[in-house]
Amino acid sequence: MSFPVQDIRRDFPLLSQKVHGKDLIYFDNAATTQKPEVVINRMNDLLRVGNSSIHRSVNYLSDQMTRDYEAARDVVKNFIGAENSKEIIFTSGATGSINTIAFSFGEAFVSSGDEIIVSELEHHSNIVPWQMLCERKGASLKVLPMDENGELRLDLLPSLINDKTRLLSVSQVSNSMGTINPVEEIIELAHSYDVPVLVDGAQSVQHSAVDVKKMDCDFFVFSGHKIYGPTGIGVLYGKEKWLDRLPPYQGGGDMIDRVSFEKTTFNELPFKFEAGTTNYIGVIGLAESIKYINNIGFEALKEYEFFLRDYTLEALKSVPGITFYGTAKEKVAIFSFLMNQIHPYDAGLVLDKLGIAIRTGTHCTMPVMEHFGIEGTIRASLCFYNTKEEIDRFVEGLLLVQEMFT
Ligand code: PMP
Repeated sequence: MSFPVQDIRRDFPLLSQKVHGKDLIYFDNAATTQKPEVVINRMNDLLRVGNSSIHRSVNYLSDQMTRDYEAARDVVKNFIGAENSKEIIFTSGATGSINTIAFSFGEAFVSSGDEIIVSELEHHSNIVPWQMLCERKGASLKVLPMDENGELRLDLLPSLINDKTRLLSVSQVSNSMGTINPVEEIIELAHSYDVPVLVDGAQSVQHSAVDVKKMDCDFFVFSGHKIYGPTGIGVLYGKEKWLDRLPPYQGGGDMIDRVSFEKTTFNELPFKFEAGTTNYIGVIGLAESIKYINNIGFEALKEYEFFLRDYTLEALKSVPGITFYGTAKEKVAIFSFLMNQIHPYDAGLVLDKLGIAIRTGTHCTMPVMEHFGIEGTIRASLCFYNTKEEIDRFVEGLLLVQEMFT
């Protein structure tokens, strides 16, 4: 494997620190990812010498910031293969993007008796906004089940879709189990019933090239902080034909065309959905993180991450008493598991003392935990700056945890 992981690690200042006197091993990348120096420096520079509100003023700084902001929109457009940059809306994150569609689409197209479909393995952010919409409109939420491996039961999908179905929302990759869902197949099926599909890409855009045109999703969402960019920034992609027909989510700021006390008219896309002063420094930071990933290239990145995935799986099998949750054939390097009767929280605390950052709990997917009849798991989520040596140390840590608690 010729992936230059040591060079890459040098790009991420946080990774070289010690935690509790040990070299940090950061295996919590599904929660949030670390930032390369180029992102940090770009945002620092903007804060130091570039800051000015966009789209508003004629001054030099504002003009420059506006150009950089709109250039960032083009970077995102090209990154996910959208048709045009009007289809790229900046939000506060994947959650913000899903809430935007749940509200706006709901206002325009959902009424009493209608149905929305989500899957059993969704993150709460792709469940709760739809539940709130259903509550508001008197609609109901249908759930596409998963099997014991954490794979979606596509065979059951036709029986869930009917003429009351208004939208289907599904993640491309599960955050708690790592399952890669066959979203193209789901979209094709949903479209054959004229049902639009929102794809939650919060756990997919950082691992594999996304092409929204090829996928043919109607909406696609992701968060900046999970793709080596800043927090508080996210993307909502929507086909222009949909976004044009949806009312704005929030009012104020750039989303207006003209305001009077009698009537307000709204701005064109994408500004109609960008109310208030946007997180423009975050947007430019996000574009920088995308450029960073593009420089590595998804082909190399994916090959290395799959190597790490396979290596981790084999290594974890050597830990006695381990039970995996989420054993899909197609998955990213996210591992959820339990060891004997050891509480995940206890394991997490000991691992932390060894400098190993993992996540314990439900991972914002309580229905997944309910499916397996458990209260939570230990989750290790890896990405391209992790190494084989870190996995070896992780396994040693788990063996120590076992020794202490059994
Ligand atoms: N969907 C999935 C699959 C996620 O993993 C997450 C974050 N864990 C979200 C949505 C929500 O992302 P954010 O908190 O960045 O809005």
